[in-house]
Amino acid sequence: MEDIEKRYEELEKRALSYNPALNRARLRSAFDYARTKHEGQLRKDGSPFVTHPLEVAHNCAEMGLDEDSLIAALLHDTIEDTNATHEDVARLFGESVAELVEGVTKLTRVTYTSKEEEQMENLRKMLMAMARDIRVILIKIADRLHNMQTMNFQSEAKRREKALETMEIYAPIAHRLGMQRVKWELEDLSLLYLDPIGYQEIIVQLDQRRKELEDFMSRIREKIIARLEECGIRGEVSGRMKHIYSIYRKMFSQNKQFSEVLDLCAFRVIVDNIADCYNVLGQIHDLFNPLPGRFKDYIATPKPNMYQSIHTTVIGSEGIPFEVQIRTYEMHHTAEYGVAAHWKYKDGITALGDEEKFAWIRSLLEAQQDTEAGEFVHELKIDMFADEVFVFTPRGDVINLPAGATPIDFAYSIHSQVGNHMTSARVNGRIVSFDHKLENGDIVEVVTSPNAKGPARGWINLAKSASARTKIRQWFKREKREENILRGRAALEAEMKHQGLNPDLLTDPELQPIVLKKLAVTSLDDLCAAVGYGGMTAVRSVNRVKEELNRVQKQDKVLQQAEKLAQQPAHQVSEASAKGVRVSDLDNCLVKFSRCCTPVPGDEVVGFITRGLGVSVHRKECTNYLSSVGKGEGRWVRVTWGNTEGSTYPAALTVDAVGRQNLIIDIATTLNAEKVTITSMNIRETPGGGAVAYLTVLVHDRDELASAIRRLRGLRGVKDVVRPGV
Ligand code: MN
Repeated sequence: MEDIEKRYEELEKRALSYNPALNRARLRSAFDYARTKHEGQLRKDGSPFVTHPLEVAHNCAEMGLDEDSLIAALLHDTIEDTNATHEDVARLFGESVAELVEGVTKLTRVTYTSKEEEQMENLRKMLMAMARDIRVILIKIADRLHNMQTMNFQSEAKRREKALETMEIYAPIAHRLGMQRVKWELEDLSLLYLDPIGYQEIIVQLDQRRKELEDFMSRIREKIIARLEECGIRGEVSGRMKHIYSIYRKMFSQNKQFSEVLDLCAFRVIVDNIADCYNVLGQIHDLFNPLPGRFKDYIATPKPNMYQSIHTTVIGSEGIPFEVQIRTYEMHHTAEYGVAAHWKYKDGITALGDEEKFAWIRSLLEAQQDTEAGEFVHELKIDMFADEVFVFTPRGDVINLPAGATPIDFAYSIHSQVGNHMTSARVNGRIVSFDHKLENGDIVEVVTSPNAKGPARGWINLAKSASARTKIRQWFKREKREENILRGRAALEAEMKHQGLNPDLLTDPELQPIVLKKLAVTSLDDLCAAVGYGGMTAVRSVNRVKEELNRVQKQDKVLQQAEKLAQQPAHQVSEASAKGVRVSDLDNCLVKFSRCCTPVPGDEVVGFITRGLGVSVHRKECTNYLSSVGKGEGRWVRVTWGNTEGSTYPAALTVDAVGRQNLIIDIATTLNAEKVTITSMNIRETPGGGAVAYLTVLVHDRDELASAIRRLRGLRGVKDVVRPGV
């Protein structure tokens, strides 16, 4: 009893050392409460049970956790193992403590069965997700650490089971949270029970070489210290044996004997600032020879768990390689305690220093925005897995589903046949409805029957995962074609009416093939079936029908107008026109002048209705027009020139000449004298000393163009001038 009291006092002292504002009366009353509640309960080794929560609280204080966490650690087994309730704890120590205790209790209830690596990862995530508040995980790790430290009195089977669970679940979580020291301890303790012989072998051999290794370490340490002093760098140098599990793993993975594992020692240099880290690195590499490929700069590139350090492996004159880690005090602290280091700085967020550094924590934890400065770590939630939920199969496999998933998602994630034959579902032993939302840690069981009539249509809306929805749709697609066709047809017809279309249009002989092709289905039944099982929506299908209908109607209208126009006498042509060209009553239609024959006012012209719903104007002499009419093709409309006064029109000319100097200048001068603008001119030499000039000129009408052509024909060396396109 005295021992317990003394141990409690040590806890208080430890907690006060990093948290002077600690409420001692509150911590004391938590301890007294735990002692009273666990009264009469003994641990396997015969000691009073309360020693366990007391040591767990010690482990938490070692991590520097806050007051609520220490209290929760003292109380962590009360709800599970005594008559204390959540309400009792909340009334006495506040809701926050009660929730921490409840959280740890929930994690304790998760049963664990050894499975393959993928399952381990899911289980780790499940625990993290279940913890919600990161302190729950930290207390749980502290609890596990103490259980591992006091495993001697457990049965062999129990020891193995716990050791395996620790090695595969808790050590990796500690690693992920950046808690190096805790991780090592958990690994070494697990190894002790998982491979006692291998563990002992390493211990014995380390012991045999202890003297030699210790001498070696002190020699190296002295050397480094002397060099630091020479350079005036302040720092601490320590040497340690590597932890047992890391030696074991090296022997195992590289298939080596203990004697072949050379780098058994590691050194650490801790300095004040980053600049010194790199100075020290330079000095170490000067003192010893660095092994190539073993240098890692985690200061420049921190690990995802915030770990920062420089690592290098070097070899001295004695031929024994060893690792040196160089870091600042601050980095050292983070390396030892990881996320838990967070609580050491109680002065407020500013004390955390570099905001950037804690970006990782912030992504892991969601600190409350409205927390008062004094207690900034009020509630830290793990939101890393907020959009996922982890549940168990009855066999203990962990299934990962999207948050909000129902038994339907669960069943289809096992196998589509399980989903298709599901008749009911149980969660934690109780029958639930299919819309029941699954929670982390639920044990889900699906009852199937070969006579099940298959999924209901409504399941598609209850399923949260895309894969479950797809599988349900596939079932309907396959199993219920007739029904799908009927449903789909009804849905399509309803949508047609809704959009103001006659449902008969679906079977319109002209429209249907185009619509089906656009929707990539081969028959109307296929379309109905697709809509029926949900592979295609009625709205989308009807929109296509509508689009197609609009297109066809527009085209029809233009063709009708064109035909009408062709039968009309010229004087009935309306004034609606563009650029001085009058087309029939095709209001607002686009008019453009064809490039092939470049018509100008005075030319006899004709219009051609093009696909873009415009009219292109050609000369009646144009070879394109003549050949088209010759083939009896329609779509030509009558056009006439309207008011063209003051406008100029581009006309193309081809000048065939004898190649000579100054031809271009003469052409330009001649046209300039005629007040005709040239917009483009290209000249090409032809075989036999000829030259062809291609020009585009702007003229007001056919007469002006004719006059220009005459003048050009009069130039020396010009053989002919023609308008192309005829
Ligand atoms: Mn416990």
